[in-house]
Amino acid sequence: MRPEILIVDDQKGVRRLLEELFKKDDWIVHTASDGFEAIAKIEEITPHIILMDMKMPNMNGLEASQKILENHPHLTIVMMTAYGEMDVIKKALDAGVRRCITKPFDIMKLRQVVLELVTA
Ligand SMILES: [Mg+2]
Repeated sequence: MRPEILIVDDQKGVRRLLEELFKKDDWIVHTASDGFEAIAKIEEITPHIILMDMKMPNMNGLEASQKILENHPHLTIVMMTAYGEMDVIKKALDAGVRRCITKPFDIMKLRQVVLELVTA
């Protein structure tokens, strides 16, 4: 079975970069550009992992993660935060986010983290 990922980021360039990375590894890739879209997608699909940007317009990644985990506590979410956002990171982990990665990230390291979480 091919692994499935949902990439949530308001920046098109970041979505594209991550989409290409995971498609090369034969993942089924879904994308969303803000928290509202991510929540709507989760009603249709059940990805093995969600990569969630923190800073997005309309609904940020923390709020979206909290909402998603309320209804789907088994979902694995990795949040991409800015450097030094300790307060946000704590809230995210308290809500059940599995891992926080600081932007800008090394994509090979991100890929490694995702593989570890999905195969764990
Ligand atoms: Mg952003």
